[in-house]
Amino acid sequence: MDNRKIVVIGGVAAGATAAAKARRTSEDADISLLEKGKYISFANCGLPYYTGGTIESRNKILLHTPKSYGGRFNVDVNVNTEAVDIDRKAKKVLLSSKEGEGEIEYDRLIIAVGGKMIIPPIEGIDNTPYFTMRTVEDADSVKEFIEKSKPKSAVIIGGGFIGVETAEAMLHCGLETTIVEAKPEIMPNLPQVVAMNLREYIENSGVSVKRGVFASKVEKDGGIKVSLSSGETIETDMLFLCTGVLPNTDLAEKAGLRIGETGGIWTDDTMRTSDPEIYAAGDAVEKLNRITRKKVLLPLAGPANREGRTAGYNSVTDGDVKFPGVIGTSIVGFGEYCAACTGLTYEKALEAGYDAEYVYTEDADISEYYPGFNFIFLKTVYEKKTGKILGAAASGKTGVDKRIDCIATAITGGLTVYDLEHLELAYAPQFAAAKDNLNLAGFAASNRLRGTGYIITPEEMLEILRKEKDTQLVDVRTKMEYRHGRIDDAVNIYVNELRKNLDKIDKSRPVYLYCAVGFRGYIALRTLRNLGYEAYNITGGIEAFNRIKKIL
Ligand code: FAD
Repeated sequence: MDNRKIVVIGGVAAGATAAAKARRTSEDADISLLEKGKYISFANCGLPYYTGGTIESRNKILLHTPKSYGGRFNVDVNVNTEAVDIDRKAKKVLLSSKEGEGEIEYDRLIIAVGGKMIIPPIEGIDNTPYFTMRTVEDADSVKEFIEKSKPKSAVIIGGGFIGVETAEAMLHCGLETTIVEAKPEIMPNLPQVVAMNLREYIENSGVSVKRGVFASKVEKDGGIKVSLSSGETIETDMLFLCTGVLPNTDLAEKAGLRIGETGGIWTDDTMRTSDPEIYAAGDAVEKLNRITRKKVLLPLAGPANREGRTAGYNSVTDGDVKFPGVIGTSIVGFGEYCAACTGLTYEKALEAGYDAEYVYTEDADISEYYPGFNFIFLKTVYEKKTGKILGAAASGKTGVDKRIDCIATAITGGLTVYDLEHLELAYAPQFAAAKDNLNLAGFAASNRLRGTGYIITPEEMLEILRKEKDTQLVDVRTKMEYRHGRIDDAVNIYVNELRKNLDKIDKSRPVYLYCAVGFRGYIALRTLRNLGYEAYNITGGIEAFNRIKKIL
């Protein structure tokens, strides 16, 4: 290993990881880190929780000071130092800092400059004060404003991850909080039905969510007036822009590096850019989706850290350790509730050319006979031909992360829904059920693929109800459940009394069955199919049906 000079631009997730990995790989390398901000290696994912007071100590989000990091890794850390240009021929980075301009030479360069904020074209935005939630300084100024000015309300433009987390923080601070989201539903990366569950929880917690409308104009007039495309105007004391990020490619473009089809910096699977002596990692680069084999943008901390690690190692060794790509696993929480996803949504799977289908399942996170269980709503997407799992999304209070992480592992390992059916998972009543949610999803999907499940999706059921008259619907729940709410025109025959009441079902016509979440409907389905009826069971039961009905 030689004493080559490694320069890393950007000192947070990907950059700090890259420099640390480079040092762990070589004691001889001469490593410098350049960061235009005041802080390095801070926990940006923790900022909303610090702002809202859940994380009390500011020091907790500062994972390292330049001194502690520099000392531990023997890295020359330069904060308040911006890389303004790269001279690839001379292998130099041009710098700007309070001390003036300078330059630093490199043998290998790693660009880890993150993303840049999307500022939507809102009239008046340039003349109206707004907050963002991206840096330690951002969190400091939000906290200071709340302490000094005692605002009563906040409007958050953007209902993605950071918008949702900021809304929770503002609610914690006692502010009347509104989220404005231009898309029909918050969290656009999730299936709408799963995002809707989260949004309903957020609304029930006291946050107002305006969906399908965009902020067309903002103006400061004492307080801040936010005009929405719906014609409504909201008066607020604080305005937040949480409208997402795009890859920061300014330096790379200026240096003539290849920019990929998605707008992120192009790299190969060793994180090398189009210049073999320059690597790049994190939100600034585009990534390979492992399922579709297409390039995507995915500004998340996990990929940024692992790409940084890969770039750090390869830059020191000229090695070919590979970053295999991403599948898109993420989670967002609000209070006690959360929503998570991995892999492809059904729509993305179709877009990618898969002949895909899905099942809805809903079951308790732990054994239902054990105190304190919560339900998890799960949508599992798979390829029809092979049963290969393509994606999943879930919502609920507890145990969602565990199920989505298992499915992420299953997708990475190329498992099918037949494997899910037989996944052997840890079970004791307080941790899971003997037939876990994931097994149930495997049962439902495998039965469907084997041609024994005769599933109909809520979406298909709604279409039939819209098009056809006199649809034969049977609710196989108890009388009590039926009385509390049912699909219009459904008759009630409790599953345990089905055989005694066959005369109430017209055998010459299809019969559509449902229960609460799909399980009793499936038992009824098998009884009727074995007796020669053309029966179908609504996947996810009336719970899924009612959710989908709200959307369609
Ligand atoms: P960054 O972490 O943004 O670091 C880039 C650094 O480069 C910045 O400090 C910047 O100042 C510096 N820089 C830029 N240009 C220059 C230059 N020319 N010269 C010198 N320095 C420069 N992801 C998750 O997976 N889960 C979460 O829960 C989650 N929560 C988040 C919450 C918040 C509030 C935010 C802001 C992000 C969150 N993320 C989350 C996203 C995650 O933090 C990012 O994906 C990750 O930090 C990207 O790492 P990066 O190193 O590419 O960029």
